[in-house]
Amino acid sequence: MRESRNMLQYGTSSKGDCMSIRRAEAAAQKALEIAWDEKFPIDPIAIARKISVQAQEQRYAIQMIGVSNEDLNGASGSAEFSATDGYICKFNKDEYGARSRFTQAHELGHVILNHVNEETTLLRDDRFINSDARETEANAFAAELLMPKKHMPTLLKRASSVSSLAQELGVSVSALSYRLKNLGLL
Ligand SMILES: [Zn+2]
Repeated sequence: MRESRNMLQYGTSSKGDCMSIRRAEAAAQKALEIAWDEKFPIDPIAIARKISVQAQEQRYAIQMIGVSNEDLNGASGSAEFSATDGYICKFNKDEYGARSRFTQAHELGHVILNHVNEETTLLRDDRFINSDARETEANAFAAELLMPKKHMPTLLKRASSVSSLAQELGVSVSALSYRLKNLGLL
């Protein structure tokens, strides 16, 4: 049943171990393969749009919507599933570029990793530092989507500094530094 939803769904969530991080990274790599135009910074909204075009049923389309701080009620973003409207990712439209991009990628991760579905229709992100395995997975998805592992050594070599690379990738310097350390590049 689940295979028929869209080509990106990877079944149900597993525990927050290395396997689930690898699963999240594999899902992001597949999303890039299908929907990325090979340009930086990587735009999660454009990726969601392209994936939606390829969804086999309209109700599995993904909408990315920028809303006000009040609409989010203090959360940085949310991911929803509705049987009639499909997937809806909300992010704070007033946040600065890098922060907003990461939230978009994180919420898209919740959708693609099947964290929202008929059983769990809404996930609200009050903050990203969370012990929930789904949050770890969504963050791993976002990191791989915006800072793809296979491109990082070349990009880093070419960049004049970490902060100029952060600018090129549209991510914060701290997110990039963390990523580079994780990949053993810094
Ligand atoms: Zn989340």
